[in-house]
Amino acid sequence: MTNLDVFSKENGQNLSLEGEFCLDTTKIDGLKVELTSQGLILSRTSIQKNGKSNQQVIPMSWIIGCHCTRKNGFDEKSSCGCRSSSTKTKNELNGENSAYLVIYAYIPKQGRKLEIWQERRMISLRFKKHNKFEENIKEADVWRRQLRFLINNYTQNVEYPIRAPDDSRSYLVLLNPKSGQSKAKEMFHKFLAPTLVEAEISYDLCITKKANFARNFVRIKDMHQWKAVIICGGDGLFYEVINGIFERPDWKDIVNTLPFGIVPCGSGNGIARSLVHLAEKPEQIDTRPAVSSSVALTNGSIRQMDLVRVETPNETLYSALSVGFGFIADVDINSESIRRLGHIRFTLWSLMNLVTLPSYRAKVSYLPIDQSKIVSQTKSKSDTTKKSSPTFSNKSRGARQDSFYSVSSQKSAYYSIAESSYQSTSEVGSDYDDPSNVNMYGPLSNLPSFSSALPKDWITQEGDFVMIHSTIQSHLSIDCFFAPESKLNDGIIWLMIIKNTISRKELTSFLLDMTYGTHIPKHDNPHVKFVQCTAFRFEPLSKLKTGIMNVDGETVEFGPIQGEIVPGILKVITPSTRY
Ligand code: ADP
Ligand code: MG
Repeated sequence: MTNLDVFSKENGQNLSLEGEFCLDTTKIDGLKVELTSQGLILSRTSIQKNGKSNQQVIPMSWIIGCHCTRKNGFDEKSSCGCRSSSTKTKNELNGENSAYLVIYAYIPKQGRKLEIWQERRMISLRFKKHNKFEENIKEADVWRRQLRFLINNYTQNVEYPIRAPDDSRSYLVLLNPKSGQSKAKEMFHKFLAPTLVEAEISYDLCITKKANFARNFVRIKDMHQWKAVIICGGDGLFYEVINGIFERPDWKDIVNTLPFGIVPCGSGNGIARSLVHLAEKPEQIDTRPAVSSSVALTNGSIRQMDLVRVETPNETLYSALSVGFGFIADVDINSESIRRLGHIRFTLWSLMNLVTLPSYRAKVSYLPIDQSKIVSQTKSKSDTTKKSSPTFSNKSRGARQDSFYSVSSQKSAYYSIAESSYQSTSEVGSDYDDPSNVNMYGPLSNLPSFSSALPKDWITQEGDFVMIHSTIQSHLSIDCFFAPESKLNDGIIWLMIIKNTISRKELTSFLLDMTYGTHIPKHDNPHVKFVQCTAFRFEPLSKLKTGIMNVDGETVEFGPIQGEIVPGILKVITPSTRY
């Protein structure tokens, strides 16, 4: 047991329910169980140290749910099994009349090397006072209802907890079976589904059949029937889904009310990593991110996240992670061919790219953060430079050249799985084919059109570059801590510009340092520039006709691209602070 597990009971806590049980394991020790608004207090009554009873408090923030059952939920390895204390009868030995309350808690743990994880613990309380099972289960159910009430009302001082009482709507889980190493279904069954069942959160599962399936699904469905949308996939599926939302005329209503969550099942998982990062110290490493993400979906908080509104000459889209070309973009897309290797594909391809080290002639422009503040103040006085709300026709939508696009997918449907009692009725999915023409809606744009020159307050640099890459997240992937200072809702685009004058040696150590976020130059560096901006324009220059323009790990048309920050527009589910 770590010191995280043991707390002393605070005075004046709101006592809700109290009972005496005895541990199944020893059958001697008495256990007093108190259920308060702060959590579950377990005190051994018979073992005394210095006149004080041993006490363990499981804070309410760690408890995600409970169930009443006839079967003992006690699991020797992971639980604290308890039963109400009284004389044993034959029925008790058989366990026939007993009812059990099984409580599910996820206990934060930290190892010596700063690695952190959440350990699942089942606390099984046995109710056997009455001779009839019906009476015992009634008593267990009083505890269950009280605990549920306390869980739902436990706000943990966060403004918007995901546990809102009186909202019985289901979660919509969108799952890409081809994400990462094609293990998303397995991960869903192993991590997310059990956690949702434990938390008594119902869900509808929609398994995508092909690229853009999820995008078309969220574009046409009544999204108000769901309480939240959960992405079981990678950054590409998240990108698909938010773009589908902005293809709806009622996008504003949706983004104002519907939160989005993610369980990392992809290759890079930059968005998921960045969301979990909020609850950690920078140096900590989450050894089981799928567990922490799943738990966060049941007890986390809802926060606002920035997006980037991106324009190419033919398309408008929204990015939740990064926009760039050059080294990282090339590695990301070109390593698709070895995606079965999982995350290591990025390291292997980086090594290959370091050998060839292509450079790109381009013009990069950006609106630096400080000046943009002045600009936005003057703009609000006379807003005439603003373009009217654009409704772009995304003609090139079907032409996204994702190399993964052609992979034939397994049979999939929008359905509920029989073994869970918390899923709603099934509906067989249609193919959600790409429409011939869709409109892109969204907030007003401040960007100048491609044909007009950039305002004077923009900074432009022309030259040969190894990489031009921007992000709004802290992490580009699980172990790429690209913009350490980035916050979810800081209104900042973090832009990295690396000139081709950089040596291979310097670039190699730069890339290695990115794992720890120590790559940012502390002083002026002739080769590397890391700037904070609110808008950018990248223009590959004429000689360069082909290349990879990467938005959130997906390929978009190669050519000029520009983007601007849309502060705090999306609601996302993040872990609440753990420590
Ligand atoms: P990864 O992080 O491994 O790239 P993503 O979830 O980001 O995983 O998905 C990669 C690509 O797969 C995205 O372009 C997405 O549009 C596409 N996709 C989604 N569903 C399917 C499917 N059923 N079959 C093939 N591709 C799909
Ligand atoms: Mg940010």
